[in-house]
Amino acid sequence: MNAGMAMSSRSPKVHTRRFKSYTRKDLDRLPQLRRLGPAERTAIKALSWVFPFRTNNYVLEELIDWEHLREDPLFQLTFPQPGMLEDADRELMVRLVEAGADDTSLLQAARSIQARLNPHPAGQMELNVPTVGGRAIPGLQHKYRETVLFFPSQGQTCHTYCTYCFRWAQFVGIDELKFASREASTLARYVGEHEEVHDVLITGGDPLVMRTSVLERYVEPLLAIEHLACIRIGTKAPAFWPHRFLTDRDADDLMRLFDRVRRAGKHLALMAHYTHPRELSTPAAQAALRRVLSTGAAVRCQAPLVRHVNDSAGIWEELWRMEVRLGAVPYYMFVERNTGPKHYFEVPLARAWEIFQKAYPRVSGLARTVRGPSMSATPGKVVIDGVTECAGEKVFVLRFIQAREPSWVGRPFFARYDEKAVWLDDLTPTFGEQEFFFEPMMRRIRDNAVLPAWGGRDERRKTPQLFGHVEWE
Ligand SMILES: *Cc1c(COP(=O)(O)O)cnc(C)c1O
Ligand code: SF4
Repeated sequence: MNAGMAMSSRSPKVHTRRFKSYTRKDLDRLPQLRRLGPAERTAIKALSWVFPFRTNNYVLEELIDWEHLREDPLFQLTFPQPGMLEDADRELMVRLVEAGADDTSLLQAARSIQARLNPHPAGQMELNVPTVGGRAIPGLQHKYRETVLFFPSQGQTCHTYCTYCFRWAQFVGIDELKFASREASTLARYVGEHEEVHDVLITGGDPLVMRTSVLERYVEPLLAIEHLACIRIGTKAPAFWPHRFLTDRDADDLMRLFDRVRRAGKHLALMAHYTHPRELSTPAAQAALRRVLSTGAAVRCQAPLVRHVNDSAGIWEELWRMEVRLGAVPYYMFVERNTGPKHYFEVPLARAWEIFQKAYPRVSGLARTVRGPSMSATPGKVVIDGVTECAGEKVFVLRFIQAREPSWVGRPFFARYDEKAVWLDDLTPTFGEQEFFFEPMMRRIRDNAVLPAWGGRDERRKTPQLFGHVEWE
Protein backbone atom coordinates (compact mmCIF):
# COMPACT_ATOMS: atom_id res chain seq x y z
CA MET A 1 0.00 0.00 0.00
CA ASN A 2 1.31 3.43 -0.75
CA ALA A 3 0.94 6.64 1.14
CA GLY A 4 -1.69 7.79 -1.35
CA MET A 5 -4.01 5.00 -0.27
CA ALA A 6 -3.52 5.90 3.34
CA MET A 7 -4.48 9.44 2.48
CA SER A 8 -7.69 8.40 0.78
CA SER A 9 -9.00 6.70 3.89
CA ARG A 10 -9.62 10.06 5.50
CA SER A 11 -13.22 10.09 6.59
CA PRO A 12 -15.33 12.77 4.93
CA LYS A 13 -17.45 12.93 8.10
CA VAL A 14 -14.67 14.24 10.29
CA HIS A 15 -14.26 17.96 10.17
CA THR A 16 -11.12 19.83 10.95
CA ARG A 17 -10.96 20.81 14.57
CA ARG A 18 -8.31 23.11 15.87
CA PHE A 19 -6.71 21.99 19.07
CA LYS A 20 -7.72 24.15 21.98
CA SER A 21 -6.25 23.45 25.34
CA TYR A 22 -7.87 24.28 28.70
CA THR A 23 -5.97 24.56 31.95
CA ARG A 24 -6.58 25.71 35.50
CA LYS A 25 -6.97 29.31 34.43
CA ASP A 26 -9.93 28.34 32.24
CA LEU A 27 -11.90 26.46 34.89
CA ASP A 28 -14.00 29.50 35.78
CA ARG A 29 -14.95 30.05 32.18
CA LEU A 30 -16.12 26.53 31.31
CA PRO A 31 -19.89 26.74 30.89
CA GLN A 32 -20.21 22.97 31.31
CA LEU A 33 -18.96 23.17 34.88
CA ARG A 34 -21.87 25.38 35.88
CA ARG A 35 -23.83 22.17 36.37
CA LEU A 36 -21.82 21.72 39.53
CA GLY A 37 -22.42 23.74 42.67
CA PRO A 38 -20.00 26.55 43.61
CA ALA A 39 -18.43 24.40 46.34
CA GLU A 40 -17.63 21.62 43.90
CA ARG A 41 -16.21 24.06 41.40
CA THR A 42 -13.98 25.57 44.05
CA ALA A 43 -12.81 22.10 45.05
CA ILE A 44 -11.83 21.30 41.47
CA LYS A 45 -9.96 24.56 41.22
CA ALA A 46 -8.22 23.97 44.52
CA LEU A 47 -7.21 20.45 43.48
CA SER A 48 -5.91 21.61 40.14
CA TRP A 49 -3.06 23.28 42.01
CA VAL A 50 -1.94 19.91 43.31
CA PHE A 51 -2.82 17.71 40.34
CA PRO A 52 -1.89 19.15 36.97
CA PHE A 53 -5.00 19.76 34.91
CA ARG A 54 -5.19 20.07 31.18
CA THR A 55 -7.92 19.11 28.78
CA ASN A 56 -9.00 20.00 25.25
CA ASN A 57 -12.03 20.88 23.19
CA TYR A 58 -12.53 17.35 21.81
CA VAL A 59 -12.61 15.79 25.28
CA LEU A 60 -14.99 18.49 26.50
CA GLU A 61 -17.28 18.37 23.48
CA GLU A 62 -17.34 14.69 22.62
CA LEU A 63 -16.14 12.48 25.43
CA ILE A 64 -17.51 13.75 28.72
CA ASP A 65 -21.17 13.10 29.45
CA TRP A 66 -22.17 16.36 31.11
CA GLU A 67 -25.65 15.04 31.92
CA HIS A 68 -24.25 12.56 34.42
CA LEU A 69 -21.28 14.53 35.44
CA ARG A 70 -20.36 13.38 38.91
CA GLU A 71 -20.23 9.69 38.08
CA ASP A 72 -19.02 10.10 34.54
CA PRO A 73 -15.90 7.99 33.94
CA LEU A 74 -14.48 10.45 31.41
CA PHE A 75 -14.99 13.34 33.80
CA GLN A 76 -13.32 11.29 36.52
CA LEU A 77 -10.50 10.53 34.10
CA THR A 78 -9.79 14.12 33.17
CA PHE A 79 -10.86 16.49 35.99
CA PRO A 80 -9.31 16.44 39.47
CA GLN A 81 -11.77 14.94 41.94
CA PRO A 82 -12.31 16.07 45.53
CA GLY A 83 -11.68 12.52 46.81
CA MET A 84 -8.14 12.55 45.42
CA LEU A 85 -6.88 14.44 48.46
CA GLU A 86 -7.21 13.64 52.13
CA ASP A 87 -9.75 15.87 53.86
CA ALA A 88 -7.23 18.06 55.67
CA ASP A 89 -5.22 18.76 52.51
CA ARG A 90 -8.30 19.44 50.44
CA GLU A 91 -9.71 21.78 53.07
CA LEU A 92 -6.45 23.67 53.24
CA MET A 93 -6.35 24.20 49.49
CA VAL A 94 -10.03 25.17 49.36
CA ARG A 95 -9.55 27.67 52.17
CA LEU A 96 -6.65 29.26 50.33
CA VAL A 97 -8.62 29.53 47.09
CA GLU A 98 -11.64 30.96 48.87
CA ALA A 99 -9.50 33.50 50.68
CA GLY A 100 -8.12 34.64 47.33
CA ALA A 101 -4.56 33.63 48.22
CA ASP A 102 -1.91 34.64 45.72
CA ASP A 103 -0.36 32.16 43.32
CA THR A 104 2.83 31.89 45.31
CA SER A 105 1.05 30.78 48.48
CA LEU A 106 -1.14 28.35 46.55
CA LEU A 107 1.84 26.91 44.78
CA GLN A 108 3.75 26.54 48.00
CA ALA A 109 0.90 24.71 49.72
CA ALA A 110 0.46 22.48 46.68
CA ARG A 111 4.17 21.63 46.57
CA SER A 112 4.22 20.48 50.16
CA ILE A 113 1.22 18.22 49.55
CA GLN A 114 2.83 16.88 46.38
CA ALA A 115 6.02 16.11 48.23
CA ARG A 116 4.10 13.86 50.58
CA LEU A 117 2.16 12.19 47.79
CA ASN A 118 5.11 11.49 45.59
CA PRO A 119 7.30 8.63 46.73
CA HIS A 120 9.90 9.36 44.04
CA PRO A 121 10.49 13.10 43.99
CA ALA A 122 12.51 14.18 41.02
CA GLY A 123 16.22 14.16 41.68
CA GLN A 124 16.15 11.44 44.28
CA MET A 125 16.38 8.72 41.71
CA GLU A 126 19.76 7.14 41.39
CA LEU A 127 21.69 7.92 38.32
CA ASN A 128 22.11 4.76 36.37
CA VAL A 129 21.60 5.44 32.74
CA PRO A 130 22.69 3.47 29.71
CA THR A 131 25.71 5.09 28.12
CA VAL A 132 27.16 5.63 24.68
CA GLY A 133 30.86 6.18 24.45
CA GLY A 134 30.93 6.64 28.23
CA ARG A 135 28.31 9.40 28.10
CA ALA A 136 24.92 8.99 29.74
CA ILE A 137 21.96 9.19 27.40
CA PRO A 138 19.17 11.30 28.76
CA GLY A 139 15.67 9.98 28.24
CA LEU A 140 16.65 6.39 27.63
CA GLN A 141 15.68 3.35 29.63
CA HIS A 142 16.78 -0.20 28.94
CA LYS A 143 15.16 -2.58 31.38
CA TYR A 144 14.17 -5.54 29.24
CA ARG A 145 16.67 -7.05 26.87
CA GLU A 146 14.74 -6.68 23.61
CA THR A 147 13.23 -3.26 24.12
CA VAL A 148 14.63 0.21 24.67
CA LEU A 149 12.32 2.89 25.99
CA PHE A 150 12.90 6.39 24.77
CA PHE A 151 11.43 9.60 26.24
CA PRO A 152 11.96 12.42 23.74
CA SER A 153 12.26 15.68 25.61
CA GLN A 154 9.52 17.38 23.58
CA GLY A 155 7.08 14.54 24.15
CA GLN A 156 6.70 14.98 27.87
CA THR A 157 3.23 16.45 27.86
CA CYS A 158 -0.17 15.16 26.73
CA HIS A 159 -3.24 16.40 24.84
CA THR A 160 -5.20 15.96 28.07
CA TYR A 161 -3.95 14.77 31.43
CA CYS A 162 -5.33 11.66 33.08
CA THR A 163 -6.12 12.22 36.74
CA TYR A 164 -4.57 8.89 37.71
CA CYS A 165 -1.26 9.72 36.11
CA PHE A 166 1.54 10.72 38.38
CA ARG A 167 3.12 13.31 36.23
CA TRP A 168 3.90 16.64 37.84
CA ALA A 169 7.50 15.64 38.19
CA GLN A 170 7.90 15.85 34.47
CA PHE A 171 6.61 19.36 34.10
CA VAL A 172 9.89 20.94 34.87
CA GLY A 173 12.40 21.53 32.14
CA ILE A 174 10.77 20.55 28.90
CA ASP A 175 13.69 21.17 26.65
CA GLU A 176 13.59 22.97 23.37
CA LEU A 177 13.77 21.64 19.91
CA LYS A 178 17.48 22.10 19.55
CA PHE A 179 18.22 19.02 21.62
CA ALA A 180 16.20 16.79 19.35
CA SER A 181 18.86 15.97 16.83
CA ARG A 182 21.51 15.28 19.43
CA GLU A 183 19.21 12.97 21.33
CA ALA A 184 18.18 11.26 18.13
CA SER A 185 21.70 10.41 17.09
CA THR A 186 22.63 9.01 20.50
CA LEU A 187 19.47 6.91 20.53
CA ALA A 188 20.31 5.50 17.13
CA ARG A 189 23.89 4.93 18.17
CA TYR A 190 22.88 3.09 21.34
CA VAL A 191 20.44 0.87 19.50
CA GLY A 192 22.95 0.30 16.72
CA GLU A 193 25.54 -0.90 19.23
CA HIS A 194 23.10 -3.26 20.96
CA GLU A 195 22.13 -6.14 18.73
CA GLU A 196 19.86 -7.58 21.43
CA VAL A 197 17.52 -4.62 20.97
CA HIS A 198 14.72 -5.44 18.52
CA ASP A 199 12.18 -2.83 19.61
CA VAL A 200 12.35 0.85 20.37
CA LEU A 201 9.37 2.15 22.29
CA ILE A 202 8.99 5.90 22.03
CA THR A 203 6.95 7.10 24.96
CA GLY A 204 6.25 10.10 27.22
CA GLY A 205 4.06 11.91 28.19
CA ASP A 206 2.76 11.49 24.71
CA PRO A 207 5.23 11.55 21.80
CA LEU A 208 2.40 12.46 19.44
CA VAL A 209 2.15 15.93 20.95
CA MET A 210 5.33 16.49 18.93
CA ARG A 211 5.07 17.73 15.43
CA THR A 212 5.67 15.07 12.82
CA SER A 213 8.84 16.86 11.72
CA VAL A 214 10.28 16.42 15.22
CA LEU A 215 9.17 12.80 15.56
CA GLU A 216 10.80 12.11 12.21
CA ARG A 217 14.16 13.15 13.55
CA TYR A 218 13.98 10.35 16.07
CA VAL A 219 12.49 7.71 13.79
CA GLU A 220 14.44 8.16 10.56
CA PRO A 221 17.90 7.28 11.91
CA LEU A 222 16.47 4.07 13.37
CA LEU A 223 15.30 2.82 9.99
CA ALA A 224 18.82 2.05 8.88
CA ILE A 225 19.52 -0.30 11.80
CA GLU A 226 19.37 -3.83 10.48
CA HIS A 227 18.67 -5.67 13.74
CA LEU A 228 15.88 -3.31 14.79
CA ALA A 229 12.50 -4.89 13.96
CA CYS A 230 9.84 -2.72 15.58
CA ILE A 231 9.20 0.87 16.42
CA ARG A 232 6.45 1.39 18.95
CA ILE A 233 4.83 4.66 19.89
CA GLY A 234 3.07 4.81 23.25
CA THR A 235 0.24 7.31 22.94
CA LYS A 236 -3.16 8.43 24.11
CA ALA A 237 -3.71 10.66 21.08
CA PRO A 238 -6.14 8.18 19.44
CA ALA A 239 -8.37 8.61 22.52
CA PHE A 240 -7.78 12.25 23.45
CA TRP A 241 -6.98 13.89 20.11
CA PRO A 242 -7.83 11.65 17.12
CA HIS A 243 -7.48 14.67 14.84
CA ARG A 244 -3.74 14.14 15.18
CA PHE A 245 -4.19 11.37 12.59
CA LEU A 246 -6.87 13.04 10.50
CA THR A 247 -6.99 16.77 10.06
CA ASP A 248 -4.08 18.32 11.95
CA ARG A 249 -1.78 20.21 9.66
CA ASP A 250 0.84 17.45 9.73
CA ALA A 251 -1.50 14.45 10.02
CA ASP A 252 -0.73 13.41 6.44
CA ASP A 253 2.99 13.67 7.15
CA LEU A 254 2.53 11.38 10.14
CA MET A 255 0.80 8.78 7.98
CA ARG A 256 3.63 9.04 5.45
CA LEU A 257 6.13 8.51 8.24
CA PHE A 258 4.30 5.36 9.38
CA ASP A 259 4.30 4.20 5.79
CA ARG A 260 8.05 4.79 5.48
CA VAL A 261 8.69 2.68 8.57
CA ARG A 262 6.86 -0.20 6.92
CA ARG A 263 8.67 0.27 3.64
CA ALA A 264 11.98 0.19 5.51
CA GLY A 265 11.01 -3.39 6.43
CA LYS A 266 10.06 -2.62 10.01
CA HIS A 267 6.91 -2.88 12.04
CA LEU A 268 5.24 0.18 13.47
CA ALA A 269 3.01 -0.45 16.49
CA LEU A 270 0.94 2.26 18.01
CA MET A 271 0.60 1.35 21.69
CA ALA A 272 -2.71 3.07 22.21
CA HIS A 273 -3.94 3.95 25.64
CA TYR A 274 -7.72 3.42 25.74
CA THR A 275 -9.16 3.58 29.23
CA HIS A 276 -12.85 3.39 28.45
CA PRO A 277 -14.93 2.14 25.50
CA ARG A 278 -16.40 5.61 25.00
CA GLU A 279 -13.01 6.75 23.75
CA LEU A 280 -13.53 4.41 20.78
CA SER A 281 -17.08 5.44 20.07
CA THR A 282 -16.80 8.77 18.24
CA PRO A 283 -16.60 9.08 14.44
CA ALA A 284 -13.23 10.82 14.80
CA ALA A 285 -11.79 8.07 17.01
CA GLN A 286 -12.91 5.38 14.57
CA ALA A 287 -11.69 7.27 11.54
CA ALA A 288 -8.31 7.77 13.22
CA LEU A 289 -7.98 4.04 13.80
CA ARG A 290 -8.92 3.21 10.21
CA ARG A 291 -6.39 5.65 8.93
CA VAL A 292 -3.53 4.41 11.10
CA LEU A 293 -4.31 0.80 10.18
CA SER A 294 -4.34 1.69 6.48
CA THR A 295 -0.62 2.51 6.69
CA GLY A 296 0.11 -1.08 7.70
CA ALA A 297 0.79 -0.09 11.30
CA ALA A 298 -0.69 -2.18 14.09
CA VAL A 299 -2.59 -0.73 17.01
CA ARG A 300 -2.17 -2.50 20.32
CA CYS A 301 -4.18 -1.34 23.28
CA GLN A 302 -3.35 -0.95 26.93
CA ALA A 303 -4.70 0.78 30.00
CA PRO A 304 -4.60 0.62 33.74
CA LEU A 305 -7.55 -0.59 35.76
CA VAL A 306 -8.71 2.35 37.87
CA ARG A 307 -11.46 2.80 40.38
CA HIS A 308 -14.16 5.31 39.37
CA VAL A 309 -13.14 5.02 35.72
CA ASN A 310 -13.14 1.43 34.47
CA ASP A 311 -13.39 -0.90 37.47
CA SER A 312 -16.02 -3.28 36.16
CA ALA A 313 -15.90 -6.42 34.04
CA GLY A 314 -18.57 -5.06 31.70
CA ILE A 315 -16.44 -2.06 30.78
CA TRP A 316 -13.42 -4.20 29.92
CA GLU A 317 -15.52 -6.67 27.97
CA GLU A 318 -16.90 -3.84 25.88
CA LEU A 319 -13.51 -2.19 25.53
CA TRP A 320 -11.82 -5.35 24.22
CA ARG A 321 -14.74 -6.11 21.92
CA MET A 322 -14.71 -2.65 20.39
CA GLU A 323 -10.96 -2.72 19.97
CA VAL A 324 -11.13 -6.00 18.04
CA ARG A 325 -14.07 -4.81 15.96
CA LEU A 326 -12.12 -1.73 14.92
CA GLY A 327 -9.05 -3.76 14.03
CA ALA A 328 -6.96 -3.05 17.13
CA VAL A 329 -5.39 -5.66 19.39
CA PRO A 330 -6.01 -5.82 23.15
CA TYR A 331 -2.57 -6.02 24.78
CA TYR A 332 -2.25 -5.16 28.47
CA MET A 333 -4.50 -4.53 31.44
CA PHE A 334 -2.32 -2.88 34.08
CA VAL A 335 -2.63 -2.60 37.79
CA GLU A 336 -2.27 1.09 38.62
CA ARG A 337 1.00 1.66 40.37
CA ASN A 338 0.98 2.40 44.04
CA THR A 339 1.69 6.13 43.74
CA GLY A 340 -0.04 9.49 43.79
CA PRO A 341 -3.71 9.71 44.74
CA LYS A 342 -3.67 5.97 45.15
CA HIS A 343 -6.36 5.69 47.78
CA TYR A 344 -8.79 7.16 45.27
CA PHE A 345 -7.90 5.08 42.24
CA GLU A 346 -6.50 1.86 43.58
CA VAL A 347 -8.10 -1.51 43.04
CA PRO A 348 -6.84 -4.43 45.19
CA LEU A 349 -5.12 -7.22 43.27
CA ALA A 350 -7.81 -9.72 44.24
CA ARG A 351 -10.50 -7.45 42.83
CA ALA A 352 -8.45 -6.68 39.71
CA TRP A 353 -8.15 -10.38 39.01
CA GLU A 354 -11.90 -10.89 39.53
CA ILE A 355 -12.68 -8.17 37.00
CA PHE A 356 -10.25 -9.62 34.47
CA GLN A 357 -11.47 -13.14 35.10
CA LYS A 358 -15.09 -12.13 34.58
CA ALA A 359 -14.48 -10.19 31.35
CA TYR A 360 -11.96 -12.52 29.67
CA PRO A 361 -14.21 -15.57 29.14
CA ARG A 362 -16.90 -13.34 27.62
CA VAL A 363 -14.83 -12.28 24.61
CA SER A 364 -13.66 -14.36 21.67
CA GLY A 365 -10.17 -15.65 21.22
CA LEU A 366 -9.30 -12.64 19.10
CA ALA A 367 -9.58 -10.43 22.18
CA ARG A 368 -7.78 -12.88 24.45
CA THR A 369 -4.48 -11.48 23.26
CA VAL A 370 -4.85 -9.25 26.30
CA ARG A 371 -2.70 -10.02 29.33
CA GLY A 372 -3.31 -8.89 32.85
CA PRO A 373 -3.87 -7.74 35.42
CA SER A 374 -0.19 -6.92 35.30
CA MET A 375 2.04 -5.00 37.66
CA SER A 376 5.07 -3.21 36.21
CA ALA A 377 7.29 -3.73 39.22
CA THR A 378 11.03 -3.35 39.66
CA PRO A 379 11.89 -6.97 38.75
CA GLY A 380 9.48 -7.05 35.80
CA LYS A 381 5.90 -7.30 34.70
CA VAL A 382 4.07 -9.69 37.00
CA VAL A 383 0.65 -10.95 35.97
CA ILE A 384 -1.91 -12.40 38.36
CA ASP A 385 -2.96 -15.65 36.75
CA GLY A 386 -5.44 -16.66 39.39
CA VAL A 387 -6.45 -17.40 42.92
CA THR A 388 -6.42 -20.98 44.03
CA GLU A 389 -5.86 -23.33 46.91
CA CYS A 390 -2.61 -25.19 47.19
CA ALA A 391 -1.54 -27.51 50.01
CA GLY A 392 -4.29 -26.07 52.19
CA GLU A 393 -3.26 -22.45 51.58
CA LYS A 394 -5.18 -19.86 49.57
CA VAL A 395 -2.72 -18.36 47.11
CA PHE A 396 -2.28 -16.00 44.20
CA VAL A 397 -0.76 -17.67 41.15
CA LEU A 398 1.70 -15.22 39.62
CA ARG A 399 3.93 -15.17 36.57
CA PHE A 400 6.46 -12.85 34.98
CA ILE A 401 5.39 -11.85 31.49
CA GLN A 402 8.41 -9.61 31.19
CA ALA A 403 11.51 -9.60 33.36
CA ARG A 404 14.79 -7.91 33.88
CA GLU A 405 16.31 -11.36 33.88
CA PRO A 406 14.79 -13.15 30.87
CA SER A 407 14.97 -16.62 32.45
CA TRP A 408 12.32 -15.53 34.97
CA VAL A 409 9.70 -15.07 32.24
CA GLY A 410 6.91 -17.62 32.23
CA ARG A 411 7.86 -19.19 35.53
CA PRO A 412 4.82 -19.54 37.82
CA PHE A 413 5.16 -18.64 41.48
CA PHE A 414 2.86 -18.17 44.42
CA ALA A 415 2.03 -15.58 47.03
CA ARG A 416 -0.20 -15.78 50.03
CA TYR A 417 -3.71 -14.62 49.18
CA ASP A 418 -4.34 -11.18 50.59
CA GLU A 419 -7.60 -9.44 49.92
CA LYS A 420 -6.15 -6.00 50.58
CA ALA A 421 -2.83 -6.24 48.74
CA VAL A 422 -2.53 -3.68 45.95
CA TRP A 423 1.03 -4.24 44.73
CA LEU A 424 3.79 -6.82 44.54
CA ASP A 425 5.47 -5.28 47.61
CA ASP A 426 2.41 -6.17 49.69
CA LEU A 427 2.70 -9.87 48.87
CA THR A 428 4.52 -12.54 50.83
CA PRO A 429 5.70 -15.98 49.75
CA THR A 430 3.83 -19.17 50.61
CA PHE A 431 4.66 -22.58 52.04
CA GLY A 432 7.05 -21.26 54.65
CA GLU A 433 9.46 -19.72 52.14
CA GLN A 434 11.33 -16.60 53.19
CA GLU A 435 11.41 -14.83 49.86
CA PHE A 436 10.32 -15.08 46.24
CA PHE A 437 12.59 -16.98 43.88
CA PHE A 438 13.77 -13.84 42.10
CA GLU A 439 14.69 -11.80 45.17
CA PRO A 440 18.31 -12.86 45.77
CA MET A 441 19.24 -12.12 42.15
CA MET A 442 17.18 -8.92 42.17
CA ARG A 443 19.05 -7.67 45.23
CA ARG A 444 22.33 -8.19 43.50
CA ILE A 445 21.15 -6.46 40.34
CA ARG A 446 19.92 -3.54 42.41
CA ASP A 447 23.24 -3.22 44.16
CA ASN A 448 24.90 -3.45 40.77
CA ALA A 449 26.86 -6.40 42.08
CA VAL A 450 25.74 -8.30 39.00
CA LEU A 451 24.03 -7.45 35.76
CA PRO A 452 21.35 -9.63 34.25
CA ALA A 453 22.93 -12.24 31.98
CA TRP A 454 22.30 -10.01 28.93
CA GLY A 455 24.14 -7.08 30.45
CA GLY A 456 21.29 -4.65 31.17
CA ARG A 457 21.63 -1.96 33.78
CA ASP A 458 19.10 -0.79 36.30
CA GLU A 459 16.82 1.72 34.64
CA ARG A 460 16.64 4.26 37.44
CA ARG A 461 17.73 7.65 36.33
CA LYS A 462 17.99 11.15 37.57
CA THR A 463 15.97 12.82 34.85
CA PRO A 464 12.50 13.89 35.89
CA GLN A 465 10.83 12.49 32.79
CA LEU A 466 10.19 9.06 34.19
CA PHE A 467 6.62 9.45 35.31
CA GLY A 468 4.53 9.17 32.22
CA HIS A 469 2.96 6.13 30.66
CA VAL A 470 5.73 4.09 32.12
CA GLU A 471 3.96 4.29 35.49
CA TRP A 472 1.79 1.47 34.43
CA GLU A 473 3.39 0.25 31.23
C1 LIG B 1 6.36 -2.97 29.29
C2 LIG B 1 7.68 -2.47 29.09
C3 LIG B 1 8.37 -2.73 27.91
C4 LIG B 1 7.78 -3.54 26.78
O1 LIG B 1 7.54 -4.88 27.15
P1 LIG B 1 6.78 -5.87 26.18
O2 LIG B 1 6.52 -7.08 27.02
O3 LIG B 1 7.67 -6.14 25.04
O4 LIG B 1 5.50 -5.19 25.76
C5 LIG B 1 9.67 -2.27 27.80
N1 LIG B 1 10.26 -1.54 28.78
C6 LIG B 1 9.61 -1.26 29.93
C7 LIG B 1 10.32 -0.50 31.02
C8 LIG B 1 8.30 -1.70 30.13
O5 LIG B 1 7.67 -1.40 31.27
S1 SF4 C 1 1.31 10.14 30.27
FE1 SF4 C 1 -0.37 8.81 29.68
S2 SF4 C 1 -1.42 8.34 31.60
FE2 SF4 C 1 -0.18 10.20 31.92
S3 SF4 C 1 -1.52 11.92 31.46
FE3 SF4 C 1 -0.42 11.44 29.60
S4 SF4 C 1 -1.84 10.08 28.50
FE4 SF4 C 1 -2.50 10.10 30.63
